[in-house]
Amino acid sequence: MTEIIDGNEIADRIKTELEVCVETLADHGVTPGLATVLMSDDSASETYVNMKQRACEEIGIEGRHHELDPETSSDTLEGRIEALNENPAVHGILVQMPVPDHVDEQTILERIDPMKDVDGFHPENVGKLVTGDPRLKPCTPHGIQRLLAETGVGTTGKDVVVVGRSNIVGKPMMNLLVQKDDLGNATVTTCHSRTDNLAEKTRNADIVIAAAGVPELIDGSMLSEDTVVIDVGVNRVDAADGEGYELVGDVEFESAVEQANAITPVPGGVGPLTIAMLLYNTVKAASLQENVDVDLP
Ligand code: NAD
Repeated sequence: MTEIIDGNEIADRIKTELEVCVETLADHGVTPGLATVLMSDDSASETYVNMKQRACEEIGIEGRHHELDPETSSDTLEGRIEALNENPAVHGILVQMPVPDHVDEQTILERIDPMKDVDGFHPENVGKLVTGDPRLKPCTPHGIQRLLAETGVGTTGKDVVVVGRSNIVGKPMMNLLVQKDDLGNATVTTCHSRTDNLAEKTRNADIVIAAAGVPELIDGSMLSEDTVVIDVGVNRVDAADGEGYELVGDVEFESAVEQANAITPVPGGVGPLTIAMLLYNTVKAASLQENVDVDLP
């Protein structure tokens, strides 16, 4: 019987433990603060930011939301980030991507104080991660590590195929999994849009992590019966009944669930862990900036 991995349950456990850390910080007069910046009309981006702010509220992190008109200049956005860098009540800064075309995404990521970079995308944090001294890990790949550990799957000695090589999921996932620690120690193959014979690679993997952003790219025929499947993809497709849209992953759930050993659903798999690890990074950033030790989960 294929296990359907419940991301909400694991994320809730982590959030409960983070609440204790928030209480420890409060005992030292510190309220962790997360600033989110949205510069887009995109409804999906708006939904993601709202979810993040709501999650902050749930565990006692002070959320501060900043909305800028999509026509705003890059200089103004950079000025806003600079002010947040200087604000001691703000421990974490998250600029919701994508930003409009006239703004260079990398410039923005590099403007954020690396100690407040709760997305873990600043080159300083990327470098620390690659060299095995991670500070603030990117939320989605870190969440996947926790999900694999919490479900008892583990990664030590496992053959893992990561499908996707983006800077936000695929590459940091690969870099985290090869680290010499309990959440890593895996043998990783990274596949991408130019990979030949993808099915051959996924069929031989113990764990497949699908982060291609291609609806239902991976089906049951590309998996073995022992494979654990982590579906990162969140793709909007037209609803089957012609009314609006629905969300599907990068894995064709119906055939994969017949074949694989375990699988994460979309929604309710990786997504909740991404948010939980954003809260984790905010608490960790506050603890580092305020010199208060907390017992992070
Ligand atoms: P991206 O578009 O930046 O990168 C996609 C990667 O997939 C690229 O590196 C590309 O080489 C590879 N790829 C594309 N087509 C492929 C194919 N046919 N075969 C093999 N590889 C292929 O996307 P991203 O930002 O990494 O996000 C990937 C998916 O994960 C998206 O659906 C996104 O919405 C989702 N996502 C979900 C969460 C979450 O919390 N659940 C977080 C981040 C991203």
